[in-house]
Amino acid sequence: MRSLLLLAAAAVLTAQTPLPDPPPPGGLRVFLCGTGSPLPDAARAGSCVAILAGAQMILLDSGPGSWRNIAVANLPAGALTAVFLTHYHSDHMGGLGEAMTQSWIAGRAQPLEVYGPAGVERVVNGFVEAYALDASYRTEHHTEQYMPSRAARAVAKTIPAGDLSPVFERSGLVVKAFAVPHEPATPAVGYRVEFGGNIVVFTGDAAASPAIAKAAAGADLLLHDALNKGLIRMAAAALGSQGRARQAKMIADTLTYHASPEEAARIAAEAKVKKLVLTHCVPPPNQPAVEQAFLRGLAGIFPGEIVIARDSMKFDLPPRP
Ligand SMILES: [Zn+2]
Ligand SMILES: [Zn+2]
Repeated sequence: MRSLLLLAAAAVLTAQTPLPDPPPPGGLRVFLCGTGSPLPDAARAGSCVAILAGAQMILLDSGPGSWRNIAVANLPAGALTAVFLTHYHSDHMGGLGEAMTQSWIAGRAQPLEVYGPAGVERVVNGFVEAYALDASYRTEHHTEQYMPSRAARAVAKTIPAGDLSPVFERSGLVVKAFAVPHEPATPAVGYRVEFGGNIVVFTGDAAASPAIAKAAAGADLLLHDALNKGLIRMAAAALGSQGRARQAKMIADTLTYHASPEEAARIAAEAKVKKLVLTHCVPPPNQPAVEQAFLRGLAGIFPGEIVIARDSMKFDLPPRP
């Protein structure tokens, strides 16, 4: 009985326990909290990358289900400082309500800053309104002392889409934004994160673009969107031949606004990045044959390491001199 009680208490306290394996001092941890796409995938949450840098945690995108991976990994949720949205497709922002609420419950004491290109104010204000009743219940239940109402809020920070100028600088953590092609979901941006001499670049959803190669120059880690165009064309043709014109068109339309694995590898080679991580893979690479289809021929284009992203993967980058 006593051990059961201890287990129950431990489960509640897990969220307040320091990580057993903290990130390298002065360096970065990149944790993949969501590597999926809009397609159904039991193994992958919606787009989300958590970055731990010193005492700060930031998120790049906040896709549906991604907070669950953050909580299970026991990341320091109360240290969430800011969320950076790449664009406003639902698979990249559907988890924002949970990020707001759960980081507040974990002890975040300041309003959550949410950065994004034009449109972020509309998105953030919508989430704040949708979660207003939830927030009011919690403050009433647990008191203003422990659940301060002003910290429940998120505040929108509109960033200029485009030129790699810093949009966030705090305690050595620098985030820069660059415009990426993802019409008609525009403006869309990717982010370049710098800390401790390391560089991490995340494209969000993007067709291939010279702007990405420029932003990723010398990066330690490039997290690039990838859509296997051959498989998608085959799927669209199969759906069309079954008379499913609506589904065939919708899947074929995705060809125009995502990069292929080969294009991502070419960008990684041009930018001379150290490691390429293919994420938001469409179709989901859950069978070895599909994973092979993503990797085929890439070693001849990009000589560095290539990884197919999976939820809860982490990359530790020690500080550089
Ligand atoms: Zn997406
Ligand atoms: Zn998108």
